[in-house]
Amino acid sequence: MSPGSDPTSPGVEEYFGPYGGRYVPEVLIAALDRLTAAWVEARADPAFAAELAGLLDSYVGRPTKLYKATRLSQRLGRTVYLKREDLAHTGAHKINNAIGQALLARRTGKRRIIAETGAGQHGVATATACALLDLECVVYMGSEDIRRQHPNVERMRLLGARVEPVEAGAKTLKEAVSAAIRDWVTNVETTHYIIGSAVGPAPYPALVRDLQRVIGDEARRQALAAEGELPARVIACVGGGSNAIGTFAGFLDDATVELIGVEAAGEGLEARHGASLSAGRTGVLHGSLSSVLFDEDGQILEAHSISAGLDYPGVGPEHAWLRDSGRARYVAITDIAALDAFRQLTRLEGIIPALESAHAIAWLFADAAERAEQRGAAPAGYDLVTLSGRGDKDLAEVLDRLPAGAAGCADE
Ligand SMILES: *Cc1c(COP(=O)(O)O)cnc(C)c1O
Repeated sequence: MSPGSDPTSPGVEEYFGPYGGRYVPEVLIAALDRLTAAWVEARADPAFAAELAGLLDSYVGRPTKLYKATRLSQRLGRTVYLKREDLAHTGAHKINNAIGQALLARRTGKRRIIAETGAGQHGVATATACALLDLECVVYMGSEDIRRQHPNVERMRLLGARVEPVEAGAKTLKEAVSAAIRDWVTNVETTHYIIGSAVGPAPYPALVRDLQRVIGDEARRQALAAEGELPARVIACVGGGSNAIGTFAGFLDDATVELIGVEAAGEGLEARHGASLSAGRTGVLHGSLSSVLFDEDGQILEAHSISAGLDYPGVGPEHAWLRDSGRARYVAITDIAALDAFRQLTRLEGIIPALESAHAIAWLFADAAERAEQRGAAPAGYDLVTLSGRGDKDLAEVLDRLPAGAAGCADE
């Protein structure tokens, strides 16, 4: 194992066990070195920390609440708390990363920002941070996603970003990331690339985790204050893995806390899905070695999930290592189960979750059903789930998919 392979090390790790690294064109290596050095320096600078903390407080609305979901708990027969990232500005956790990286870019003298986006959530978060800090913003987006996610395209444009359509391949997120990396290779002297999840070449997986660990650090404090003890289980959905790794980071050293990441099983693990950890193999995608979905010929597969944010054929390298080392467990939830959880949380708690976050809630229902069937006992204690975002963006998709009447009020 290489130095820095311990995921709890305070450094900016290049490797997590065998995973991670920098599988990028030579011209980017020096830029990645400079970015690593800039982050180590910024993290240790009280002025940077104060500016970031100030914006997270007064602009993003942190700390986000930890909410005891009473009716959901009754339904499950077990106490559940929700970490409310859906209450953050722009409606999800992605703003934590976008603001942190935009501040870092400005500090290193880069005034041009590029980003990739799939559903448009990371694009909106980045365009928001760039408006706030007066930075130029270019967002790469597959032309198919531009068609499907038009409201977010309009938001980005209103915020002053240029949205660059990507016509290659399936015209979705994977191609948008590749286009952003190509732009970065060309413009690396003037440009900072704000990657949207805990993926990509080092130092991005560690940098994004460091910026998202505010979720886990707050949640741990809030959970202790509320219950006087740590949760038995901490649960989060996993696309690229940023809200999950940010949540897990707060609890990694607490050996009694079980960490559970929930991937998208889509139409099922034998069909189209996005479960890179549950059903992938070791390979390279977008600059790092991790667990990836690819076919016999080494071609990266099209992922599928009802939630655009989980629809990615790779995952952050630290998750692959947490899986192999046994510190975290990864499970997968189908589109149908996520839709059901979306509806249940909405009706039980008056909280409309993002479809991504609904996967984490769905696992609670699946686990409760399995326990009931096997008459097995759940671990003592309570559960904490990160609700990564709100569901406004998903209404069209959900209304399309729910059986007639199910979205209305004539059931239960
Ligand atoms: C983008 C997104 C995700 C998936 O990204 P991660 O990096 O895995 O956190 C999950 N939830 C919401 C609401 C998102 O917008």
